Amino acid sequence: MSLSPPMLVLIATLLGLCVGSFLNVVVWRLPRDESVVWPGSHCPHCGHDLPWFHNIPLLSWLLLRGRCGFCSAPISVQYPAVELLSAGLWVLLTLPGAGRMGELPPLLNLLAGGMLLSWLLPLALIDARTMRLPEPLCRWGVVSGLLLSAALGALQGQAAELLLWHATAAAIGLLAFESISAGAERLLGMPALGLGDAKLAALLGAWLGLKGLGVAIASAVLLGALFGVAGRLSGRLGPRQPFPFGPFLAAGGVLSWIAADPIGKLLIQPDRLGV
Ligand SMILES: [Zn+2]
Repeated sequence: MSLSPPMLVLIATLLGLCVGSFLNVVVWRLPRDESVVWPGSHCPHCGHDLPWFHNIPLLSWLLLRGRCGFCSAPISVQYPAVELLSAGLWVLLTLPGAGRMGELPPLLNLLAGGMLLSWLLPLALIDARTMRLPEPLCRWGVVSGLLLSAALGALQGQAAELLLWHATAAAIGLLAFESISAGAERLLGMPALGLGDAKLAALLGAWLGLKGLGVAIASAVLLGALFGVAGRLSGRLGPRQPFPFGPFLAAGGVLSWIAADPIGKLLIQPDRLGV
């Protein structure tokens, strides 16, 4: 099936909005140990079940002016924001060169990237809010990345190669972060990286392969350092105040999926930037 680029962008936008809407539910319920599928959507304020037309991504929030249609309690702007963010990222997944699982048909490549986003977006949001990365999300994220590597590799007649490289990258991500974490803890006398970060690094390896993992971690360290410096300079972060690293790993992972080759070149040849 061949799709015109505008059609692919339209599909990405709509899927991104709908998936973002579901991820809102995951981000809200998972840290509370609630099921993400049952019961259906309800207002957290009055508990009223929400009919489907109160639940259309973005549109319902705008039409209801950010309030529950039953009790008028304000609905957090986080809901439409996550839906928009998800849609924007899905559109970026359609860029030429995006993808880390070989040469795939555009729609399949988009869906694979969308699955990766569906692990990274909730992990980043939950870590930002609670400083924790839920173990089951990380674990199933690793498993799904390896399964997809095998399946998409088989489709291209190289299941063993793709799976081997991605499994190796997952193992390296896990071990590297665990040893850095142990070393930093000895050096600083306090936990520096959570064990959740090591599992998230394994997830990135499983989805991105070795080179993709390298680009993701390098991007995450750069983004995290910028955030730390900006936070200290603006006084929003205290000295030695910890901040979650998961959102930066997740952002690095998304960047790596979309543009590992150009970012990799920039990082290896920084003289191009004049540094
Ligand atoms: Zn309500």
